[in-house]
Amino acid sequence: MNNCIFCKIIAGEIPSAKIYEDDLVYAFLDISPINKGHVLVIPKEHHESSSTIPEATAGRMFRVGSRIGIALRRKMDYDAFNLHLADGAAAGQVVMHAHLHVVPRGVEDGFRWNWRQLKYADGELAATAETLSKRLAEDLEKGE
Ligand code: AMP
Ligand code: ZN
Repeated sequence: MNNCIFCKIIAGEIPSAKIYEDDLVYAFLDISPINKGHVLVIPKEHHESSSTIPEATAGRMFRVGSRIGIALRRKMDYDAFNLHLADGAAAGQVVMHAHLHVVPRGVEDGFRWNWRQLKYADGELAATAETLSKRLAEDLEKGE
């Protein structure tokens, strides 16, 4: 039995304010928005992590999300938008059905991401890039 709240929204068992739907994705208003008009775009198929979403669906999520961002700018008078996806609890994922946030932004909306800027030690940046790119190449070769 699937107890996922977003699967229930797609099935119509829990109400939502739908913005868009097609064969692969469903988009609806976030109930506790950063700014009004904040939308969530989700795959219709249940995936906890963004990494297992098929490429066509992931591409559609990004395409629909960015078009919703443009609609927010043109029709709701926002200046810009953020696309945000939290993958894993430590990254802030609370609902374990992958979702792309479309957050409408205004020049003076009073919201800050608090994006810190750490510094690498000597050689650390190159070593990090090497480790990460090797691991990625291995995983992609295995089809993971
Ligand atoms: P995250 O922290 O990235 O997992 O975001 C989960 C988001 O889902 C939060 O921004 C919540 O406000 C939103 N949310 C949770 N339940 C609902 C619901 N029933 N309808 C709309 N949005 C929801
Ligand atoms: Zn689900």
